[in-house]
Amino acid sequence: MRPLTGVLNVLQEECAEVIQAISKVQRFGMYDTYQGASNLERLAEEIGHVKCMIMELQALVPDLTDELIIKAIREKAMKLDYWLPHEGEVGYIPVGGKDEPRD
Ligand SMILES: [Mg+2]
Repeated sequence: MRPLTGVLNVLQEECAEVIQAISKVQRFGMYDTYQGASNLERLAEEIGHVKCMIMELQALVPDLTDELIIKAIREKAMKLDYWLPHEGEVGYIPVGGKDEPRD
């Protein structure tokens, strides 16, 4: 069995690599290439690494169920429906906004 600390450490690193891949997309575009791979391919790779580590974590923590994760996905999608239309209009929503939590 894999150690929980090691799985969490790698998941954390992979999340950071997704952030880096997103930065490259934002700076250079989805289809810009560097050393033979596009930013799209690198983003897909890092998202895959995160998904792999989430599966590893679920194998170690049975209480981290698909049902809990799917519930969170649905809730996040609903928040996006509310927040994303406002992104270009007002920039960042002020901290302490009273109606909806941001996460
Ligand atoms: Mg990676």
